[in-house]
Amino acid sequence: MYGDPYAAARRDMVDQQLVRRGIRDLRVLDAMAKVPRQRFVPEEYRHLAYDDSALPIGECQTISQPYMVAVMTEALGLEPGSRVLEVGTGSGYQTAILAELAAQVYTVERFDTLSENARALLCELGYRNILSRVGDGSKGWPEAAPFDAILVTAAAREIPEELEAQLAPQGRLVIPIGDRTLQDLYRVSREGEGWRMENITSCRFVPLVAEAGWPED
Ligand code: SAH
Repeated sequence: MYGDPYAAARRDMVDQQLVRRGIRDLRVLDAMAKVPRQRFVPEEYRHLAYDDSALPIGECQTISQPYMVAVMTEALGLEPGSRVLEVGTGSGYQTAILAELAAQVYTVERFDTLSENARALLCELGYRNILSRVGDGSKGWPEAAPFDAILVTAAAREIPEELEAQLAPQGRLVIPIGDRTLQDLYRVSREGEGWRMENITSCRFVPLVAEAGWPED
């Protein structure tokens, strides 16, 4: 965008944090080069919006590190017609990336403040293919299932059964699983009668507050 003071920082982020570390999917790189991440972080952190790190967004939650957003999005293997569920809307940044790449995005957040802020911003930025709601996302969104892809952006102890059940036959679920402080990012795909689990990378997410995660602090 002409006159966007963050354009250079965003381009550098894509080159240095994503391309150099092996993100190959051009659609993912294009989406990350387009979405104005600075709009999704609080005013006082705006100058850090393209840093190689997660940042606080209120309610003790964080917007994920750009590289992690790219890794998770690439692992979902989205197509223009995909229907996606996101658990943990947070700032809405990851939601916007998903909305750039898929036909329809459903996103669930447990804090109504975060959900409402994200909804207003995504609407202002012109996204019309996102539906959001407040609640326990580990239960999924049964009325809208099945999903081609499901992304959980908070750390779980185990795979929530409802999410598995809401995956389409060729569907992929990307989810951090581990303990409260350190997890591995898994891609879970249906394979015949069973499931195939691939460990993508180690990671650090805020806890999923749910049966399949942890109780509130
Ligand atoms: N994708 C977001 C990540 C936010 S951090 C971003 O990049 O901004 C993870 C989010 O998951 C937090 O906002 C947290 O409140 C939310 N969360 C935790 N447990 C949840 C649950 N059971 N259902 C829905 N959201 C949950």
